Amino acid sequence: MSHQKPSVGRIVHYVSYGTPGGEYKSECRAAIVTEVLADGSQGAENNVGLAVLNPEGVYFNRAVPQDEGAETPGSPDCPNKAGHGSPFRYCGCGWMEAGHCGGTWHWPERV
Ligand SMILES: [Zn+2]
Ligand SMILES: [Zn+2]
Repeated sequence: MSHQKPSVGRIVHYVSYGTPGGEYKSECRAAIVTEVLADGSQGAENNVGLAVLNPEGVYFNRAVPQDEGAETPGSPDCPNKAGHGSPFRYCGCGWMEAGHCGGTWHWPERV
């Protein structure tokens, strides 16, 4: 899925920015690809323009980078392995919760 190329008209997820205090969570929003910026530069191959469908309205964004947000595996010897996940988002062993950064897009998760 993640190796698919985006194309105009496809529906993807855009990740809204959360607020540091947690008043707003970072959330997935439906978004329609409005342009594919194929400038070929390193790391920007899948940058797209998006029409983001927020519950409050539609807004447009250009040059949005892709982030598939996989979980970062930590050390297999971690004594706190059972604690990975809620409420911990990071662990000393290097484990990091799977998550998408605000301001990026990804293919919709399979539910
Ligand atoms: Zn999503
Ligand atoms: Zn750990």
